[in-house]
Amino acid sequence: MKIDHDLHVHTYLSACCSDKQTHTPKNIIALAEEMNVKTIGFSDHVWQNPYYQPNDWYKPQDESQILRLREILKTIDTPTRILIGCEADTVKPGTFSITPKFAETLDFVILSCNHFHIKDLVEQPESDSPKHLSKHILKFFRSGASCGFATAIVHPFMTLGYMHAFDKTIESISDAEFLDAFGLAHDNGVAIEITTGFIPNKANRQFSIETPIRYLSLAKQAGCKFTLATDAHTPEAQRRLPELQTITDALELKESDIHPMLRM
Ligand SMILES: [Zn+2]
Ligand SMILES: [Zn+2]
Repeated sequence: MKIDHDLHVHTYLSACCSDKQTHTPKNIIALAEEMNVKTIGFSDHVWQNPYYQPNDWYKPQDESQILRLREILKTIDTPTRILIGCEADTVKPGTFSITPKFAETLDFVILSCNHFHIKDLVEQPESDSPKHLSKHILKFFRSGASCGFATAIVHPFMTLGYMHAFDKTIESISDAEFLDAFGLAHDNGVAIEITTGFIPNKANRQFSIETPIRYLSLAKQAGCKFTLATDAHTPEAQRRLPELQTITDALELKESDIHPMLRM
C-alpha cells in the first residue's frame, strides 16, 4: 500500500514544536514534495471553546492559529494537496477544546482522546493501574468517537503520560470491548490514526509494537477506516512516515482501508 499522506503535522505555531526555526509550513511542504507525499494535513493544537477555560499552555493557541496558517499558505505554491485542520482535545468525556461550529470551518479535525500527560487540564485516571487506565481510556475514546466532528481519533489508546503501563493496560482490554469501541467509531464515520508513535524507537522502547497492532487489527475488523500520520513536531519526525509500512503490512491494509478523503 502506498504511504502518500500525512494527516497529522504540527508547525512552529504549536507551542510544543521543538524546532520553531525550521519547522515552518514552507519547509514542511518542501519536505513532503521531496518524500513524494501527496497530501499534507496541517494540524496544530487549537483551543476554540468559549464555554471552557483552558490551561495556560492552551490559551495562546486559539483560532488565530488557523488564520495565521491560512495567511502563510497563501504565499506557497505547491503541487502537494494541503488540508487545513487542527488537533482538538478531549478534556473529559463530552468536553472538547473546540466547538462543532468551529470544526465546520476546517478541512478536517483530528481528535485526541488521551492527552493524559496534560495533567493540569485533562481529567486523570484514578491511578496508573491497568484496570483504572483501561476504564478511563475507553470512556474517553467512546466519547470522542461519538462527538460528531472528528475525522479521526489520533494516537488512539496510547496511555500518554502513563506509557510505562501501555502494554499492560491494552492487555486488560478484551477483544469484545475493543470491537465495541471501534464499532462506535465506524458507525460514526470516524477513522483511526496509525502513527509513527506506535513504533518504539530508541527514545521510546517502553512497549511492544504488538500492542498497537493487536487493537489496530480489531479496528480493521470493526470496519474502521484509517489515516496515516507522523504527528511531526520536527523535520526528523516528518521523515519517519515510511516507517509506517511495518504496520500497514502487518495489518495487510489496502487503499480501500484508508479514509476516502485521502485516497488519490
Ligand atoms: Zn496529540
Ligand atoms: Zn499532535
